[in-house]
Amino acid sequence: MSSDLPSSFKGLAVTATPIGNLGDLTPRARDMLASADIIACEDTRHTGLLLSRLGITPKKLAAYHDHSKDHVIKGLVDAMAGGKTVALVSDAGTPLISDPGYRLVSACIKAKIPVTPLPGASAVLSALAASGLPTDRFYFGGFLPQSGKKKRDLLESLSVVPSTLVFYESPKRLAATLEVMTDLYPERQAVVARELTKLHESFYYGTVMSLYEDLKGQSLKGEAVLMLGPLEQDQNISEDDIEQRIIRALADGYSRRDASQMIAEQIGLAKKDIYKIAISLPDPSPADE
Ligand code: SAM
Repeated sequence: MSSDLPSSFKGLAVTATPIGNLGDLTPRARDMLASADIIACEDTRHTGLLLSRLGITPKKLAAYHDHSKDHVIKGLVDAMAGGKTVALVSDAGTPLISDPGYRLVSACIKAKIPVTPLPGASAVLSALAASGLPTDRFYFGGFLPQSGKKKRDLLESLSVVPSTLVFYESPKRLAATLEVMTDLYPERQAVVARELTKLHESFYYGTVMSLYEDLKGQSLKGEAVLMLGPLEQDQNISEDDIEQRIIRALADGYSRRDASQMIAEQIGLAKKDIYKIAISLPDPSPADE
């Protein structure tokens, strides 16, 4: 699709809607939502309300989720094969970014139905743009697992990613997540972007440790994005931190050699230096295994 009016397009238009401020709906998205034969959305009531606030009367709304039954996807694909245009939206922001749409887009591509994006707001890019963190490379981790162990293991494994990390996180869980991070990389730069484009938009800048201290007593509301600056090699990794990582890896069944290899990759130090520490440690006690 070129820059002409979306109403001339036939196929699936993946259409971004605002993440807070209604003024962020693009003119192309507005045209598409007004002209699409069907608007496929997560929640017809939510999207119906959004459209009425935007002064748009939709032709037809249809519920779509990634767990929708195959016949729902087939119904939409058949409609597009028959010449109808479907606008896919999510509750807010860009569809498919931690939101439904993947199965529908891939079904369209398989059926050779044109798919076009109508770009607009997305919390990940908006947060990054105002974060002050390096943006030449970033890793988007979506939502973190809620369970402490899974969250910790994931955050530890992401230590090897040499770029800014971005997560969607509920403000209610921010302090708990930062607490886990204080164990892994307390001095890493951290930024929280909350309620972007809304009345109470706010940013918190600091290190993992300082943000944890700032936020632990607060009951924050709304929506938030949590970002970490790239981990400098050997940044704040004390010998004690390394010992703790080795002890955990041994308790998880790694040999000293494999544990040293894994930790060396995670923190960017030489394997032989980690191994020297590993062989100085006692075997894990049965309670640790
Ligand atoms: N598809 C959306 C997008 O493009 O950003 C994201 C949908 S995801 C289900 C919702 C999460 O995005 C929220 O829990 C929050 O982490 C983040 N988010 C959405 N709107 C936000 C806002 N206005 N300010 C901060 N974070 C926001």
